[in-house]
Amino acid sequence: CGVFGVRASGQPVSHLTYDGLYALQHRGQESAGMAVSDGQQLVVVKDMGLVTNVFNEYKLAGLQGHLAIGHTRYSTTGASSWHNAQPVYRHAGGGSFAVGHNGNLTNTAQLADDAGMLPGTVGSDSDLLAELLARQLEGRGEDGDLVQALAEVLPTLEGAFSLVLCDRDRLIGVRDPHGFRPLSLGRLDDDGWVLASETPALDIAGATWVRDLEPGEMVVIGEDGPVSLRPWPAGAIEPRLCLFEFVYLARPDSRLYGQELHGARVRMGELLARQAPATADLVMGVPDSGIPAAEGYSYGSGIPYATGLVRNRYIGRTFITPGQSERAAGVRRKLNPLRGVIEGKRLVVVDDSIVRGTTTRAMVRMLREAGAREVHLRISSPPYRWPCYYGLDTGTRSQLIAANLSVSEIGEYVGADSLAYLTLDGLKEATGAPHAGFCDACLTGTYPTPVPLGRKAEVAD
Ligand code: 5GP
Ligand code: SF4
Ligand code: MG
Repeated sequence: CGVFGVRASGQPVSHLTYDGLYALQHRGQESAGMAVSDGQQLVVVKDMGLVTNVFNEYKLAGLQGHLAIGHTRYSTTGASSWHNAQPVYRHAGGGSFAVGHNGNLTNTAQLADDAGMLPGTVGSDSDLLAELLARQLEGRGEDGDLVQALAEVLPTLEGAFSLVLCDRDRLIGVRDPHGFRPLSLGRLDDDGWVLASETPALDIAGATWVRDLEPGEMVVIGEDGPVSLRPWPAGAIEPRLCLFEFVYLARPDSRLYGQELHGARVRMGELLARQAPATADLVMGVPDSGIPAAEGYSYGSGIPYATGLVRNRYIGRTFITPGQSERAAGVRRKLNPLRGVIEGKRLVVVDDSIVRGTTTRAMVRMLREAGAREVHLRISSPPYRWPCYYGLDTGTRSQLIAANLSVSEIGEYVGADSLAYLTLDGLKEATGAPHAGFCDACLTGTYPTPVPLGRKAEVAD
């Protein structure tokens, strides 16, 4: 998911929020929404679909206010439905608030149980979070304060959550103690503050990047600007930024740990060329996510780079659509080979990852049909063997091809002449921040928080 928030003094912000969400569209394409406050009323508009489908001039004109949060959704738990679109809105304790969540809680069942909620009455993990906050506020009556409610509830949550929240007059950002998902703070020239999942959303909103929120930090932005709070004990803080933000998820023009991701992805390809050389005529990338690493592989190997696959511009991320059959059908709609480039050639084909193998297999077949003589597949991350419980819907172990097959068996399954992956050390080195804290659970099986291993099958896919 993508989250965005802005608080400006006296200036309307709905258009700016629209721009921010548009820059975060790649993080979730199922639904989009925003909550806008003018200091008196907090109004939410959300719907299924892309940002451009959900909002238009007419709707934005009706959303007046100086304070807003927004969300683009990619479902990990909970169905892809209107009810689960965000921001989630609640009226409680004499006030109202809205919350947008990127990530995935791993102790939802326990939290619901502790709160005495009946199984089946809990919607998504984000809904549950809103419900817990609302109960805290109710318990405090007219004096209910969202920041106090957060201070109570946040330490009980496990898993991944970068949050944006607002009540009628404050913007709040939270990053969980592992900082699985990114969240940055930016400043508007004329007196305002912005929160965004990724830095390009700050750029497009006309804000200057100030800093990333730290893992375990809550920033409360009111009339007097940001105030930083630490709802967790120091011992709970352990940075574990998702490595796949670097590999695939975030935009190439995003900056994480001070590194522009495009450069990191090029370095992944350069290292891969060193670790897994091939004899070939051309290097090509699988659009879009494999392109920077292919560029790097070409630099690193001296083999010329070529465009061999054209991607339909009007199709979103095939992976970020729920449902396996939709994914498989998506490949042919999305990619088309350039026969004139490929025919009779030995190809190195670079992609960022193989998760289920569906896309890759269809893509290799396509290249052969277009006359490729050899296809040497190179992947700019290690084998993806373990399910993600922190906000990527990569499926159960049974669906993950590398959990079930060896590298050579995967090569055979996808129809490649050879297959090799970048090593974990290589990947970390290529990020440009090799000593920073990363989550690599999907590659190593070492999860930073307790996870319901084996329960993933029950979770909506
Ligand atoms: P597969 O062959 O596993 O079906 O698809 C691999 C492709 O899916 C790669 O091009 C990769 O960019 C893309 N991909 C899709 N989704 C994700 C995701 O959530 N994580 C990762 N790592 N890769 C995804
Ligand atoms: Fe990222 Fe993998 Fe960790 Fe999930 S398990 S947060 S995809 S590194
Ligand atoms: Mg891809």
